[in-house]
Amino acid sequence: MELINEPLINYPWLMKAYQNLTLPLINGHAHHALLIKYIAGCGEEKVVTKLAMRLLCSTPQKNEPCGQCHHCQLFLANNNPDYYIIKPEKNKLSIGIDQIRGIATKIYERSQQGGNKVVWLQTASLMTEAAANALLKTLEEPPENTYFLLSDIDNGKLLPTIRSRCQFYFLPVPELDASISWLKSQSLTNQYNENQLATALLLNNNAPLAALKLLETEQWQQREQFTSKLQIALTEYDFWSLRDSFLNQENSLIRLNWFCILLNDSLKARQKSGRFIANRDQVALVRVIAHFGTEKIIKLYTLWRDVQEQLATVTALNQDLIISNLLAQSEIIINSSTN
Ligand SMILES: [Zn+2]
Repeated sequence: MELINEPLINYPWLMKAYQNLTLPLINGHAHHALLIKYIAGCGEEKVVTKLAMRLLCSTPQKNEPCGQCHHCQLFLANNNPDYYIIKPEKNKLSIGIDQIRGIATKIYERSQQGGNKVVWLQTASLMTEAAANALLKTLEEPPENTYFLLSDIDNGKLLPTIRSRCQFYFLPVPELDASISWLKSQSLTNQYNENQLATALLLNNNAPLAALKLLETEQWQQREQFTSKLQIALTEYDFWSLRDSFLNQENSLIRLNWFCILLNDSLKARQKSGRFIANRDQVALVRVIAHFGTEKIIKLYTLWRDVQEQLATVTALNQDLIISNLLAQSEIIINSSTN
């Protein structure tokens, strides 16, 4: 994993977060359980990984893991027996009680390397209620020299009892202008103008690494194709023509989200709050949508958000049928006479 030893200096906002997160350690008041909330794509993995390595290192230098001691060496080899990562198992959407119990038994034993132990619970709100209650017991009677790092997306729903056992930290994202400057300093982004860079950020709640990924991969091209198809579909009142755009699940979710943000933007445009729109490079399309009127836009938004949620949270659904239904209903909405 490249990620493990990546210097945070290239990500100024993460560097600052790391310094804040490690401050209690320097002062000798580190809490045994941290809840770290983040906006996906802000670099959460980099900063939590670094923090875990720092907690395990036996001889940190200037608040950085030394990279040389036995603990660091094992960590870098992705093989430190006192480091536990909990996340949903393959093909599962939640973290089960057995995973929590499995770790709980191990961490009450002495650390394998005679130092700290670190448990990183990724997307903590994915725990089932039973799993969360099992974890709660462990957090109430924490084993010695053990740190729990619970990371979770900003809108994740975590049991309040778990929250109350943790010290809370929110990973901040930079201001839009600072993120635009950062994106400009990245190699592959010089082909984009300021509006496009801002759009990539605003579509990702200002998370710089998510924006970079959108710009650097074929996703940006896919978005351009999708928006031009959408423009034709809406001008011709023909949602059915979008059907090809929803052939695989992952792509579908992204596109559903893109359209929802466009709908949201068109409402802002209608309310003369155009300067808050996210799709700054798609003003013409936003205007086309705004033309349908507030009532239809809200109906479409509710419908598309519901489907997005349905497809994101439930597996093994007949996606094809759901999408066909969505497009048919959307077509009824825009062709209806109410306005
Ligand atoms: Zn070390």
